[in-house]
Amino acid sequence: MRHVRLLPVAPRPFGDELLTSWQCRVACRYSSTPPQVEVWLGRPPTPMRESFQARDFQPDKDMTWRWARASRLEERDLQRIALCDLQRPEECYVTNPLDRGVCPVCLDEDAERGGDHYCRRNWAHVEAAACEEHGVALQSACQRCFRSGLFQFRSMPDGVRLVCPSCTSVISERRGRQPRQDRLLESMSAITEAIDGKGFQLDTVIAASDFLWAPQPHGLPYITCLGISLPYGRLPPSSTAPAPLSTLPLAWRAVSVEAVAELAGLVDRREIGNVPTFAHKAFRNSRGGEEEPAPKNIVATAQDESDELKLRTDDDYRRLALDLLKSQAWKDMPSNTGRKKDRAIGRLMSRALSGG
Ligand SMILES: [Zn+2]
Ligand SMILES: [Zn+2]
Repeated sequence: MRHVRLLPVAPRPFGDELLTSWQCRVACRYSSTPPQVEVWLGRPPTPMRESFQARDFQPDKDMTWRWARASRLEERDLQRIALCDLQRPEECYVTNPLDRGVCPVCLDEDAERGGDHYCRRNWAHVEAAACEEHGVALQSACQRCFRSGLFQFRSMPDGVRLVCPSCTSVISERRGRQPRQDRLLESMSAITEAIDGKGFQLDTVIAASDFLWAPQPHGLPYITCLGISLPYGRLPPSSTAPAPLSTLPLAWRAVSVEAVAELAGLVDRREIGNVPTFAHKAFRNSRGGEEEPAPKNIVATAQDESDELKLRTDDDYRRLALDLLKSQAWKDMPSNTGRKKDRAIGRLMSRALSGG
């Protein structure tokens, strides 16, 4: 039997959580990073820049086993949320976490429920530019200092929160509700359907995004000549990637999602379309002049890697646990079992661990 060190406290993964998000939530409880935890667990660390392939999409079996054992979870509970088990092709995910967004309303709801902030798997979908549940645009820049950069998980007395790497404010929509993005949502759900249904429509989606981003001999790619407001003041990023949507920054992905849905004939925008007729025609020609499909009505950061986890001694943990059991908050705890009690215990543990 292989031996693995146990982490004193590790939260459970949420059913729709990205594996990296869960690993960051575990690690930040020890002021640490997933690679540091891996060294501590006795295996070579996987750098954060390789997270998509090596953590989220197809995690190594030994790594999954170690994380599961250390957190007292079943191996299959972690494997179940790996992206490769979810029947969506690899090129339909955004690989760089910097190019994904988060929904601040979802995060506020996490906090209201008394839980940690966490990143949803569907925020990594190529078509994810707005929240399917709340309809607001996903956000990749801080609403307080307006800088972008990978949001970081921080352990706070009430739970783990995503914060801006520059000004450390907690990501929240309370700084101003964003408008609903109905049109974008319609395009998104049409693309989701096409991807999940696979087959012919998936091919057309991929062809449309390739077409929009393919370099043109006489100038900029087609994406720049549509009637869509493009991300202000920015030239399109390099588009030589084989699957452009999976490597585009969030703002460029949002405009592409609109255009792809229209070009692929997934939404009916004949009256108020953004894609001009010449682009539709060029796209059909690029597909060998096939018939236009019938319109359908219906979308953590790497620090240096050392093997030091900020663990306390067993005596310290025992003392924390005993203090907790003696505290008034513990005595006031509802006696029934269930989620409410689990959350209350989680909150007490977080507070104790962060010295609150
Ligand atoms: Zn949301
Ligand atoms: Zn900020």
